[in-house]
Amino acid sequence: MMRIQINLPLVVLAMFLLAGCDQGSPSQTLVLEGKTMGTVWRVSMAGVEAGRKIALRQAIQKQLDADDAELSTWKPDSTLSRFNQNQRREPQPVSANMADIVTEALRIGHKTSGAMNITVGPLVNLWGFGPDRQPARTPSEAQIAAAKALTGLQHLRVLQGVDGQWLQKDLPGLYVDLSTLGEGFATDHLARLLEQQGISNYLVSVGGAVLSRGNNASGQPWRVAIQKPTDRENAVQARVELHGHGISTAGSYRNYYELDGKRISHIIDPATGRPIEHRLVSATVIATTALEADGWDTGLMVLGSEKAKALALKEHLAVYLISKQGDQFVSWMSPQFAAFLIKQ
Ligand code: ADP
Ligand code: MG
Repeated sequence: MMRIQINLPLVVLAMFLLAGCDQGSPSQTLVLEGKTMGTVWRVSMAGVEAGRKIALRQAIQKQLDADDAELSTWKPDSTLSRFNQNQRREPQPVSANMADIVTEALRIGHKTSGAMNITVGPLVNLWGFGPDRQPARTPSEAQIAAAKALTGLQHLRVLQGVDGQWLQKDLPGLYVDLSTLGEGFATDHLARLLEQQGISNYLVSVGGAVLSRGNNASGQPWRVAIQKPTDRENAVQARVELHGHGISTAGSYRNYYELDGKRISHIIDPATGRPIEHRLVSATVIATTALEADGWDTGLMVLGSEKAKALALKEHLAVYLISKQGDQFVSWMSPQFAAFLIKQ
Protein backbone atom coordinates (compact mmCIF):
# COMPACT_ATOMS: atom_id res chain seq x y z
CA MET A 1 0.00 0.00 0.00
CA MET A 2 1.23 3.45 -0.91
CA ARG A 3 4.90 2.74 -1.29
CA ILE A 4 7.28 5.32 -2.62
CA GLN A 5 8.18 3.30 -5.67
CA ILE A 6 5.66 1.68 -7.95
CA ASN A 7 5.81 -2.07 -7.51
CA LEU A 8 5.05 -4.08 -10.58
CA PRO A 9 2.56 -6.82 -9.94
CA LEU A 10 3.92 -10.33 -9.86
CA VAL A 11 0.91 -11.81 -11.56
CA VAL A 12 0.63 -10.58 -15.10
CA LEU A 13 -2.78 -10.36 -16.62
CA ALA A 14 -3.24 -12.62 -19.55
CA MET A 15 -4.57 -9.80 -21.67
CA PHE A 16 -1.00 -8.52 -21.99
CA LEU A 17 0.48 -11.84 -22.87
CA LEU A 18 -2.27 -13.28 -24.96
CA ALA A 19 -3.51 -10.03 -26.39
CA GLY A 20 -5.66 -10.49 -29.41
CA CYS A 21 -5.72 -14.27 -29.33
CA ASP A 22 -8.09 -15.84 -26.90
CA GLN A 23 -9.15 -12.93 -24.74
CA GLY A 24 -11.46 -11.58 -27.43
CA SER A 25 -10.90 -8.71 -29.78
CA PRO A 26 -9.89 -5.40 -28.16
CA SER A 27 -13.07 -3.70 -29.38
CA GLN A 28 -15.17 -6.03 -27.25
CA THR A 29 -12.95 -5.71 -24.21
CA LEU A 30 -12.90 -2.48 -22.29
CA VAL A 31 -9.63 -2.07 -20.39
CA LEU A 32 -9.09 0.61 -17.74
CA GLU A 33 -5.89 1.20 -15.79
CA GLY A 34 -4.56 3.49 -13.14
CA LYS A 35 -2.37 3.77 -10.05
CA THR A 36 -3.17 3.22 -6.42
CA MET A 37 -1.54 2.01 -3.21
CA GLY A 38 1.92 2.33 -4.75
CA THR A 39 1.02 -0.08 -7.52
CA VAL A 40 -1.18 -0.36 -10.59
CA TRP A 41 -4.82 -1.37 -10.95
CA ARG A 42 -6.33 -2.82 -14.08
CA VAL A 43 -9.87 -3.75 -15.04
CA SER A 44 -10.82 -5.70 -18.19
CA MET A 45 -14.50 -6.01 -18.98
CA ALA A 46 -16.28 -7.90 -21.73
CA GLY A 47 -19.45 -6.60 -23.28
CA VAL A 48 -19.32 -3.12 -21.76
CA GLU A 49 -19.92 -0.07 -23.95
CA ALA A 50 -16.90 2.15 -24.55
CA GLY A 51 -19.07 5.16 -23.71
CA ARG A 52 -18.99 4.18 -20.04
CA LYS A 53 -15.21 4.44 -19.86
CA ILE A 54 -14.79 7.83 -18.24
CA ALA A 55 -17.50 7.40 -15.61
CA LEU A 56 -16.27 3.92 -14.71
CA ARG A 57 -12.66 5.00 -14.45
CA GLN A 58 -13.65 7.82 -12.13
CA ALA A 59 -15.78 5.60 -9.91
CA ILE A 60 -13.00 2.99 -9.68
CA GLN A 61 -10.26 5.50 -8.87
CA LYS A 62 -12.44 7.16 -6.27
CA GLN A 63 -13.15 3.89 -4.49
CA LEU A 64 -9.49 2.81 -4.56
CA ASP A 65 -8.36 6.15 -3.20
CA ALA A 66 -10.93 5.80 -0.42
CA ASP A 67 -9.66 2.29 0.40
CA ASP A 68 -6.12 3.61 0.53
CA ALA A 69 -7.18 6.50 2.77
CA GLU A 70 -8.63 3.96 5.15
CA LEU A 71 -6.03 1.18 5.16
CA SER A 72 -2.68 2.81 4.47
CA THR A 73 0.06 2.95 7.09
CA TRP A 74 1.82 5.45 4.80
CA LYS A 75 -0.85 8.08 5.38
CA PRO A 76 -0.68 9.48 8.92
CA ASP A 77 -4.37 10.40 8.82
CA SER A 78 -5.74 7.08 7.50
CA THR A 79 -8.24 5.25 9.71
CA LEU A 80 -5.62 2.59 10.33
CA SER A 81 -2.89 5.11 11.23
CA ARG A 82 -5.24 6.76 13.70
CA PHE A 83 -5.91 3.40 15.33
CA ASN A 84 -2.16 2.78 15.49
CA GLN A 85 -1.45 6.23 16.97
CA ASN A 86 -4.18 5.90 19.58
CA GLN A 87 -2.55 4.21 22.57
CA ARG A 88 -5.80 3.50 24.39
CA ARG A 89 -7.05 0.03 25.21
CA GLU A 90 -10.73 0.93 24.74
CA PRO A 91 -12.48 -0.37 21.61
CA GLN A 92 -12.27 2.08 18.70
CA PRO A 93 -15.06 2.29 16.12
CA VAL A 94 -14.08 1.27 12.59
CA SER A 95 -15.85 0.71 9.27
CA ALA A 96 -17.38 -2.65 8.33
CA ASN A 97 -14.66 -2.99 5.68
CA MET A 98 -11.90 -2.58 8.24
CA ALA A 99 -13.53 -5.07 10.62
CA ASP A 100 -13.91 -7.59 7.78
CA ILE A 101 -10.28 -7.33 6.69
CA VAL A 102 -8.95 -7.65 10.22
CA THR A 103 -11.26 -10.62 10.94
CA GLU A 104 -9.99 -12.42 7.83
CA ALA A 105 -6.40 -11.43 8.63
CA LEU A 106 -6.64 -12.87 12.14
CA ARG A 107 -8.20 -16.09 10.80
CA ILE A 108 -5.42 -16.66 8.24
CA GLY A 109 -2.90 -15.43 10.79
CA HIS A 110 -3.88 -18.18 13.22
CA LYS A 111 -4.01 -20.81 10.45
CA THR A 112 -0.43 -19.94 9.46
CA SER A 113 0.71 -20.05 13.11
CA GLY A 114 1.28 -16.31 13.05
CA ALA A 115 3.40 -16.31 9.88
CA MET A 116 0.95 -13.96 8.15
CA ASN A 117 0.79 -11.43 10.89
CA ILE A 118 -0.74 -7.97 10.59
CA THR A 119 0.79 -6.90 13.92
CA VAL A 120 4.25 -7.16 12.34
CA GLY A 121 4.28 -3.35 11.76
CA PRO A 122 7.00 -2.39 14.28
CA LEU A 123 9.35 -4.92 12.63
CA VAL A 124 8.40 -3.77 9.12
CA ASN A 125 9.25 -0.21 10.15
CA LEU A 126 12.49 -1.26 11.85
CA TRP A 127 13.65 -2.96 8.65
CA GLY A 128 12.71 0.08 6.58
CA PHE A 129 9.68 -1.20 4.66
CA GLY A 130 7.18 1.05 6.35
CA PRO A 131 6.97 4.82 6.41
CA ASP A 132 10.26 4.93 8.40
CA ARG A 133 13.55 5.17 6.52
CA GLN A 134 15.70 2.20 5.59
CA PRO A 135 18.19 1.57 8.39
CA ALA A 136 21.83 2.45 7.71
CA ARG A 137 22.96 -0.69 9.52
CA THR A 138 21.50 -4.07 10.32
CA PRO A 139 19.21 -3.62 13.36
CA SER A 140 20.69 -4.95 16.60
CA GLU A 141 19.35 -7.92 18.57
CA ALA A 142 18.03 -5.50 21.17
CA GLN A 143 16.20 -3.41 18.56
CA ILE A 144 14.68 -6.51 17.00
CA ALA A 145 13.59 -7.84 20.40
CA ALA A 146 12.05 -4.49 21.34
CA ALA A 147 10.04 -4.31 18.09
CA LYS A 148 9.05 -7.98 18.37
CA ALA A 149 7.69 -7.37 21.87
CA LEU A 150 5.14 -5.02 20.30
CA THR A 151 3.73 -7.72 18.01
CA GLY A 152 1.30 -10.61 18.52
CA LEU A 153 -2.11 -11.53 17.09
CA GLN A 154 -3.44 -12.15 20.60
CA HIS A 155 -3.25 -8.42 21.31
CA LEU A 156 -5.81 -7.48 18.64
CA ARG A 157 -9.56 -8.12 18.66
CA VAL A 158 -12.51 -7.33 16.42
CA LEU A 159 -15.79 -6.60 18.18
CA GLN A 160 -19.01 -6.86 16.17
CA GLY A 161 -22.25 -5.37 17.44
CA VAL A 162 -25.67 -4.48 16.08
CA ASP A 163 -24.76 -0.80 15.97
CA GLY A 164 -21.23 -1.02 14.68
CA GLN A 165 -17.84 -2.70 14.87
CA TRP A 166 -14.69 -1.91 16.78
CA LEU A 167 -11.02 -2.79 16.96
CA GLN A 168 -9.39 -3.24 20.32
CA LYS A 169 -5.77 -3.69 21.34
CA ASP A 170 -4.48 -4.64 24.75
CA LEU A 171 -0.94 -3.47 24.00
CA PRO A 172 -0.65 0.31 23.57
CA GLY A 173 2.30 0.06 21.16
CA LEU A 174 0.57 -2.39 18.83
CA TYR A 175 0.94 -1.27 15.20
CA VAL A 176 -1.28 -2.93 12.63
CA ASP A 177 0.05 -3.20 9.06
CA LEU A 178 -2.52 -4.21 6.42
CA SER A 179 -0.16 -3.59 3.49
CA THR A 180 0.00 -7.20 2.47
CA LEU A 181 -3.80 -7.49 2.32
CA GLY A 182 -4.69 -4.10 0.90
CA GLU A 183 -4.36 -5.21 -2.71
CA GLY A 184 -6.53 -8.27 -2.18
CA PHE A 185 -9.19 -6.32 -0.35
CA ALA A 186 -9.22 -3.52 -2.93
CA THR A 187 -9.53 -6.10 -5.73
CA ASP A 188 -12.61 -7.73 -4.18
CA HIS A 189 -14.05 -4.31 -3.47
CA LEU A 190 -13.53 -3.31 -7.11
CA ALA A 191 -15.40 -6.42 -8.20
CA ARG A 192 -18.33 -5.42 -5.96
CA LEU A 193 -18.35 -1.98 -7.58
CA LEU A 194 -18.55 -3.54 -11.05
CA GLU A 195 -21.40 -5.81 -9.92
CA GLN A 196 -23.29 -2.75 -8.70
CA GLN A 197 -22.77 -1.28 -12.15
CA GLY A 198 -24.39 -4.35 -13.70
CA ILE A 199 -21.07 -5.67 -15.06
CA SER A 200 -20.58 -9.42 -14.69
CA ASN A 201 -17.76 -10.39 -17.07
CA TYR A 202 -14.52 -8.96 -15.79
CA LEU A 203 -10.96 -9.51 -14.66
CA VAL A 204 -9.76 -6.99 -12.07
CA SER A 205 -6.40 -6.56 -10.40
CA VAL A 206 -4.66 -4.35 -7.89
CA GLY A 207 -0.93 -5.08 -7.80
CA GLY A 208 -0.42 -8.82 -7.50
CA ALA A 209 -4.02 -9.62 -6.55
CA VAL A 210 -6.53 -10.59 -9.22
CA LEU A 211 -10.20 -11.58 -9.30
CA SER A 212 -12.30 -12.76 -12.23
CA ARG A 213 -15.93 -13.31 -12.92
CA GLY A 214 -17.73 -14.66 -15.96
CA ASN A 215 -16.01 -14.89 -19.32
CA ASN A 216 -13.83 -12.83 -21.61
CA ALA A 217 -15.07 -11.38 -24.91
CA SER A 218 -14.54 -14.74 -26.62
CA GLY A 219 -16.85 -16.41 -24.15
CA GLN A 220 -13.94 -18.24 -22.50
CA PRO A 221 -12.91 -18.16 -18.83
CA TRP A 222 -10.39 -15.42 -18.05
CA ARG A 223 -6.77 -16.49 -18.07
CA VAL A 224 -3.93 -15.29 -15.90
CA ALA A 225 -0.22 -15.93 -16.25
CA ILE A 226 2.20 -16.43 -13.38
CA GLN A 227 5.52 -14.77 -14.06
CA LYS A 228 8.86 -16.42 -13.98
CA PRO A 229 10.89 -15.10 -11.05
CA THR A 230 13.36 -13.20 -13.19
CA ASP A 231 13.87 -9.55 -13.92
CA ARG A 232 12.39 -10.05 -17.36
CA GLU A 233 8.90 -8.85 -16.79
CA ASN A 234 6.74 -10.91 -19.07
CA ALA A 235 8.36 -14.33 -19.00
CA VAL A 236 5.61 -16.85 -18.26
CA GLN A 237 5.99 -19.68 -15.79
CA ALA A 238 2.44 -21.05 -15.89
CA ARG A 239 -1.05 -20.13 -17.02
CA VAL A 240 -4.29 -20.69 -15.19
CA GLU A 241 -7.93 -20.33 -16.06
CA LEU A 242 -10.09 -18.68 -13.44
CA HIS A 243 -13.77 -19.30 -12.86
CA GLY A 244 -14.75 -16.52 -10.52
CA HIS A 245 -11.74 -16.94 -8.26
CA GLY A 246 -9.18 -14.68 -6.70
CA ILE A 247 -5.45 -15.24 -7.27
CA SER A 248 -2.49 -13.57 -5.66
CA THR A 249 1.29 -13.96 -5.73
CA ALA A 250 3.77 -13.01 -3.04
CA GLY A 251 7.44 -12.95 -3.88
CA SER A 252 10.76 -12.17 -2.34
CA TYR A 253 12.56 -11.26 -5.55
CA ARG A 254 11.15 -7.86 -6.51
CA ASN A 255 10.97 -5.76 -3.38
CA TYR A 256 14.23 -5.80 -1.44
CA TYR A 257 17.37 -3.80 -0.78
CA GLU A 258 20.93 -4.65 0.17
CA LEU A 259 22.29 -4.02 3.63
CA ASP A 260 25.71 -5.06 4.92
CA GLY A 261 26.04 -7.26 1.83
CA LYS A 262 22.74 -9.07 2.40
CA ARG A 263 19.47 -9.05 0.51
CA ILE A 264 16.76 -7.69 2.77
CA SER A 265 13.28 -8.90 1.78
CA HIS A 266 10.18 -6.89 2.61
CA ILE A 267 8.52 -9.97 4.03
CA ILE A 268 9.37 -10.38 7.70
CA ASP A 269 9.21 -13.61 9.68
CA PRO A 270 7.35 -12.57 12.84
CA ALA A 271 8.90 -15.54 14.69
CA THR A 272 12.48 -14.35 14.20
CA GLY A 273 11.82 -10.65 13.71
CA ARG A 274 13.98 -10.79 10.60
CA PRO A 275 13.41 -10.69 6.83
CA ILE A 276 12.90 -14.10 5.28
CA GLU A 277 15.99 -15.69 3.74
CA HIS A 278 14.91 -19.08 2.47
CA ARG A 279 14.83 -20.54 -1.04
CA LEU A 280 11.12 -20.02 -1.68
CA VAL A 281 10.96 -17.20 -4.20
CA SER A 282 7.23 -16.96 -4.82
CA ALA A 283 3.93 -18.34 -3.60
CA THR A 284 0.73 -18.08 -5.65
CA VAL A 285 -2.66 -18.91 -4.18
CA ILE A 286 -6.07 -19.27 -5.83
CA ALA A 287 -9.01 -18.82 -3.45
CA THR A 288 -12.64 -17.72 -3.30
CA THR A 289 -11.65 -14.10 -2.80
CA ALA A 290 -8.56 -12.06 -3.68
CA LEU A 291 -8.28 -11.07 -0.02
CA GLU A 292 -8.00 -14.68 1.06
CA ALA A 293 -5.46 -15.45 -1.68
CA ASP A 294 -3.46 -12.37 -0.68
CA GLY A 295 -3.39 -13.41 2.98
CA TRP A 296 -2.32 -16.98 2.35
CA ASP A 297 0.43 -16.13 -0.15
CA THR A 298 2.24 -13.98 2.41
CA GLY A 299 1.90 -16.62 5.12
CA LEU A 300 3.25 -19.33 2.82
CA MET A 301 6.19 -17.12 1.81
CA VAL A 302 7.11 -16.69 5.46
CA LEU A 303 6.82 -20.42 6.19
CA GLY A 304 9.17 -21.48 3.37
CA SER A 305 8.77 -24.39 0.91
CA GLU A 306 8.46 -27.38 3.20
CA LYS A 307 6.03 -25.92 5.72
CA ALA A 308 4.11 -24.16 2.94
CA LYS A 309 3.61 -27.45 1.10
CA ALA A 310 2.42 -29.21 4.25
CA LEU A 311 -0.02 -26.41 5.08
CA ALA A 312 -1.36 -26.23 1.50
CA LEU A 313 -2.12 -29.96 1.64
CA LYS A 314 -3.62 -29.78 5.13
CA GLU A 315 -5.88 -26.83 4.29
CA HIS A 316 -6.66 -28.05 0.72
CA LEU A 317 -5.38 -24.80 -0.75
CA ALA A 318 -4.69 -24.18 -4.43
CA VAL A 319 -1.00 -23.25 -4.23
CA TYR A 320 1.88 -22.87 -6.69
CA LEU A 321 5.37 -22.44 -5.27
CA ILE A 322 8.63 -21.54 -7.00
CA SER A 323 11.84 -22.28 -5.13
CA LYS A 324 15.45 -21.73 -6.00
CA GLN A 325 17.73 -24.75 -6.01
CA GLY A 326 21.23 -23.75 -6.99
CA ASP A 327 20.84 -21.89 -10.27
CA GLN A 328 17.54 -23.58 -11.05
CA PHE A 329 13.97 -22.63 -10.29
CA VAL A 330 11.84 -25.56 -9.19
CA SER A 331 8.06 -25.39 -9.05
CA TRP A 332 5.51 -27.33 -6.99
CA MET A 333 1.74 -27.26 -7.05
CA SER A 334 -0.98 -28.66 -4.85
CA PRO A 335 -3.66 -30.92 -6.44
CA GLN A 336 -6.20 -28.09 -6.06
CA PHE A 337 -3.96 -25.77 -8.09
CA ALA A 338 -3.42 -28.34 -10.84
CA ALA A 339 -7.15 -28.19 -11.58
CA PHE A 340 -6.77 -24.56 -12.71
CA LEU A 341 -3.66 -25.07 -14.82
CA ILE A 342 -3.83 -24.69 -18.58
CA LYS A 343 -1.72 -27.47 -20.05
CA GLN A 344 0.42 -26.33 -22.93
P1 ADP B 1 4.21 -8.80 -2.31
O1 ADP B 1 4.88 -7.60 -2.93
O2 ADP B 1 5.10 -9.98 -2.21
O3 ADP B 1 2.85 -9.06 -2.85
P2 ADP B 1 2.95 -7.39 -0.28
O4 ADP B 1 3.27 -6.03 -0.79
O5 ADP B 1 1.59 -7.93 -0.48
O6 ADP B 1 3.99 -8.41 -0.81
O7 ADP B 1 3.26 -7.44 1.27
C1 ADP B 1 4.49 -6.99 1.78
C2 ADP B 1 4.22 -6.05 2.92
O8 ADP B 1 3.50 -6.75 3.95
C3 ADP B 1 5.48 -5.55 3.59
O9 ADP B 1 5.94 -4.39 2.96
C4 ADP B 1 4.99 -5.30 5.00
O10 ADP B 1 4.36 -4.04 5.09
C5 ADP B 1 3.96 -6.37 5.23
N1 ADP B 1 4.50 -7.59 5.86
C6 ADP B 1 5.78 -8.02 5.93
N2 ADP B 1 5.88 -9.20 6.55
C7 ADP B 1 4.61 -9.56 6.88
C8 ADP B 1 4.05 -10.68 7.58
N3 ADP B 1 4.79 -11.68 8.02
N4 ADP B 1 2.69 -10.69 7.73
C9 ADP B 1 1.92 -9.67 7.28
N5 ADP B 1 2.40 -8.60 6.64
C10 ADP B 1 3.72 -8.54 6.43
MG1 MG C 1 0.01 -11.13 0.14
